[in-house]
Amino acid sequence: MLMSQPSARSLSPVFDADQRYPVDLHMHSTASDGALTPTELVTLCAERGLTHMSLTDHDTMDGIEEAARAAERVGICLIPGCELSTRWQGVSIHVVALMPGGLQGAMVEGLLQQREARIQRAEVIAERLEKVGLPNALEKARFHAGSDRPLGRPDFARALVEEGLVPDWASAFKRYLGSGKKGDVKAHWPEISEAVGWIVDSGGVAVIAHPLRHGLTRRKRGLLMDTFQAAGGQAVELVSGQQNPDSTRDLARQLVERNLYASMGSDFHFPGSHAAPGSMSLVPRTAAPPIWQHPRLVHLRDAPAGPLASV
Ligand SMILES: [Zn+2]
Ligand SMILES: [Zn+2]
Repeated sequence: MLMSQPSARSLSPVFDADQRYPVDLHMHSTASDGALTPTELVTLCAERGLTHMSLTDHDTMDGIEEAARAAERVGICLIPGCELSTRWQGVSIHVVALMPGGLQGAMVEGLLQQREARIQRAEVIAERLEKVGLPNALEKARFHAGSDRPLGRPDFARALVEEGLVPDWASAFKRYLGSGKKGDVKAHWPEISEAVGWIVDSGGVAVIAHPLRHGLTRRKRGLLMDTFQAAGGQAVELVSGQQNPDSTRDLARQLVERNLYASMGSDFHFPGSHAAPGSMSLVPRTAAPPIWQHPRLVHLRDAPAGPLASV
């Protein structure tokens, strides 16, 4: 998400101070739009005292093999995962897939489909940016991305800055890539029910990612949870990075009403941001069952009881 300078007004209501947990089930690496390689991320997690982690790159599990090797070396329990882009009633919704058995079953084809949707979207963005003065946009974005993963808007933003069309990243979004601008191209993401089906059929657990950041009202969020649950989804991120404690408590009530499991993650992308592995707002006590009680996530059962008991 693109952050603008917070005004005094937008700073209230206050967010919880950072808590540090040994469990973080939502993080990104260079396999998608994170800054650290899977090895660097796992190493940082170990340095910060994490015992259980999941790597959840956008629409890919390409970083998992490397992360698993690093996790083995440093003695961290790694749950393979990814974060799927989906849609529901015209809104883009992210769903974390926790995949204890790794990439298998319907997810194999599902992730290929996501990759294709990203490639097609990048081509349309490139065409549009060429019309507004960035020739060879695709090659330039590819060059600045420095890897062969599907390109996203941040890669085009970097190209626009490097080619001198805009002074900085924020201007790139403001003028060309942000909501309603030329480069704001919607990808053909699957319906949320379809994506949840891939996850569940492949032995995984589907988790609604950062439910407070999809721009939904409480009522709409409840309807989203109902659709998600009807499709086989069983968990929601009760805490994602920094959030308002009142909103968290209210969200907890929505989970309890539906008996959905509560998950937690920092959504860490890069060092220097206010997010860090294992750092997030206070996870409140709630009657919603913690994700590590899910029968498919036996790996998590040996997690240390201390901080986990706070859920
Ligand atoms: Zn997300
Ligand atoms: Zn994420």
